[in-house]
Amino acid sequence: DDDFKTGARFGSGRVGQVKEVTSLSNPIIKDIKALTNKKDREESGTFMAEGLKLVIDALELGWSIRTLVYAKAAKGKPLVEQVAAKTVARGGLVLEVSEKVLSSVTRRDNPQMVVGIFEQQWQRLDHLVPEKNQTFVALDRVRDPGNLGTIIRTADAAGASGVILVGECTDPFSLETVRATMGSIFAMPLYRVPVTDFLAFSRQSGAQVVATHLAGAVDYRTIDYRAKPTILLMGNEQSGLPEQLANAADRLARIPQQGLADSLNLAVATAVMLFEARRHLLSLEA
Ligand code: SAM
Repeated sequence: DDDFKTGARFGSGRVGQVKEVTSLSNPIIKDIKALTNKKDREESGTFMAEGLKLVIDALELGWSIRTLVYAKAAKGKPLVEQVAAKTVARGGLVLEVSEKVLSSVTRRDNPQMVVGIFEQQWQRLDHLVPEKNQTFVALDRVRDPGNLGTIIRTADAAGASGVILVGECTDPFSLETVRATMGSIFAMPLYRVPVTDFLAFSRQSGAQVVATHLAGAVDYRTIDYRAKPTILLMGNEQSGLPEQLANAADRLARIPQQGLADSLNLAVATAVMLFEARRHLLSLEA
């Protein structure tokens, strides 16, 4: 295995070693547990993802792994061994831990056997040039981690090209959001910008901004999504889109509703918009 040979270079010191950990007070475990705090995730630039399949996918997509944690019971399983070898080869640390330690790291009674600590990846909006047939989702101050995770997963499934977090948003790399993405966190380019930067970007991007609004005059099904790349702009769960953002949109779209509900859930509204905007691009044959 080529990776393994490269790994030999990292053979000394703490990096690249396989460590056995059974104590909850182990300092490395404490650092990993601290990743439940946004502050610690930001400072370290890392986050945690659970599950063997997710870790395999992430490595395949080129994400940088800092630490691999696996349960003693998973030792010797071929896929786990392969992932461990790759982690070592890439200069990461491998920890073999007791189930008790794994439970405390993931805060779950029946934890996944494998957990990876990865480096966060953010894309730069000032480097983005939207192309024809590309769709982006821009979220104004999204608050709910479950909504954000569901939106990232749905954007991935609909073939969108990125999710842009506008203003103060919930952290896409929180454990709850990463869980809700079901792995799509590793497939969806993420951007985060202040409102002013988003406005500047949308003016010069060449894309059409379709904002969704409960007061939107246009039925979302009447918009032409083919001519230009599209940015679907979605409002905050509580307050909806502020005027400043709504005014910047090329179209203000509304999803017609019946019944008692005032509005759709943000993630549901985003899904409806995504699959309409990309309807001409999605097919069972592709
Ligand atoms: N109370 C908020 C309001 O007055 O705007 C409700 C916000 S709604 C829960 C969250 C976001 O989902 C909205 O800002 C909008 O982007 C989108 N949304 C929900 N239902 C919609 C609909 N029927 N038409 C267009 N957008 C909708």
